[in-house]
Amino acid sequence: MIAATKARVSPGKLLINGQWVEGSGRAFDTVNPATGEVLTQVAEAGARDVDQAVLAARKAFDDMAGPWRKMSASERGKMLWRIADLVEKNIDELAELETLDNGKPIFESRYVDMPMVADVFRYYAGWATKIHGETVNTFNHAFTYTLRDPVGVVGAIVAWNFPLLLARWKRGPALACGNTVVLKPAEQTPLTALRFGELALEAGLPPGVLNIITGGPETGATLVKHPGVDKVAFTGSTSVGKEIMRSSADTLKRVTLELGGKSPNIVFADSAIDSAVKGALNGIFYGKGEVCCAGSRLFVEKKVEDEFLTKLVEFSKKIKLGDPLDPKTRLGAIVSQKQMETVLGYIDAGRKEGATVLTGGKRASVNGDQGYFIEPTIFGGVKNEMKIAQEEIFGPVLATLTFDDVEQVAELANNNIYGLAAAVWTNDIKKAHQLSRRLKAGTVWINTYGLMDAALPFGGYKQSGFGRELGMHAIEHYTELKTVWMNL
Ligand code: NAD
Repeated sequence: MIAATKARVSPGKLLINGQWVEGSGRAFDTVNPATGEVLTQVAEAGARDVDQAVLAARKAFDDMAGPWRKMSASERGKMLWRIADLVEKNIDELAELETLDNGKPIFESRYVDMPMVADVFRYYAGWATKIHGETVNTFNHAFTYTLRDPVGVVGAIVAWNFPLLLARWKRGPALACGNTVVLKPAEQTPLTALRFGELALEAGLPPGVLNIITGGPETGATLVKHPGVDKVAFTGSTSVGKEIMRSSADTLKRVTLELGGKSPNIVFADSAIDSAVKGALNGIFYGKGEVCCAGSRLFVEKKVEDEFLTKLVEFSKKIKLGDPLDPKTRLGAIVSQKQMETVLGYIDAGRKEGATVLTGGKRASVNGDQGYFIEPTIFGGVKNEMKIAQEEIFGPVLATLTFDDVEQVAELANNNIYGLAAAVWTNDIKKAHQLSRRLKAGTVWINTYGLMDAALPFGGYKQSGFGRELGMHAIEHYTELKTVWMNL
């Protein structure tokens, strides 16, 4: 059996104006994907609740004499720092909740996701006092300068693959800039967002500054359409991103979209092959492949195809698939039955299109439980036009292709609607820099895969979205730039 949990899993309510309240919609189940068991029930925010949450955020933002708008930038920074401290204090519980709800290995939740949650808050705590405009030289009779104002009420909607981390990428800069937030976590994984809400209140965040509404697409769509929301910060699929952009148009909301990907991972014959093999496996199987920037298209230089693929398959067989709560597990459970079926559907499509399953290719059973596990799967003989090379699978499935030279691989790699990330493995510095320029991707890793830092911007080209999260450039998306003229 999957190990019993020590974490608290209590029914989820909505956080509106500093109070935990019942939702007016129908409560829904959140499921442990490693066992198929219901963890608890979570409130669904209906239109009335969304309205209340937006009103609370609006009031906290518009009330210039209220605690949030009176707070100095330095105090805001300290507030974010206190929240980071509380995340660290409760890190084991948060990590366990994340693993239970999402199915990701506890190793990832505890040692990668949660530390980065705290780190993002600390990074933006520092920014709170560094958001400023410029004085600009114009006419002698004028004193002219710019100011950066907070945008206002931010509606943040996130996906289920890094539940707390994705929310933090938005709340960190949003709060540092002085905005208020209504967060809608993904319906599959709401638990850490709710626990985080408790910690934010414990840290002293004033009522209405952070509101959390749980629910599905309808709750999200209601939030996007609400006229009281000034900006929508979205992380999710490209199709929903397009819908959000369309419905934001009526009120011309500011929108940032972090969407899907099909990132090319390019291996040259002159690279350190064993490192590249490990990087390729990490690029696709970390996070069960449910990672927006997963290296799901692997391009191997033809000269080393046999050697590389043999090692890739051999190393992939050593990946420990199993109980996500086991610290040794490196491949956990797919987030939901629906997602598992989608991924298995792609594996089927790959076979039908004539690609060869080199390893894996089916559902796996862990201790006879009813969990949603899929074997690490690698396809060989893939053509760039196949569905498994063009579409985002969002699961532990790797499509491998071959190439002859820089020109050819640049063209193949860019021949896709997405442009989130890419990687190049080579010992030739010229090739590395040539491709860094040529690849249409928001992030290019050289001789590594998947590294992130709170200080470095992350986001997409093409249909992977627009806007950047993390780093100093995220601040631009959470502020309005104002020009002030003073007649002297
Ligand atoms: P999804 O688009 O189905 O859902 C994402 C969120 O949007 C959920 O909270 C959902 O309830 C909400 N939603 C759904 N329909 C909506 C609507 N019409 N209006 C408003 N909200 C709505 O995506 P998913 O399946 O949960 O997540 C997987 C996708 O997210 C993948 O495509 C992945 O690449 C992408 N993703 C991107 C990044 C990035 O930084 N670029 C990071 C993580 C995930």
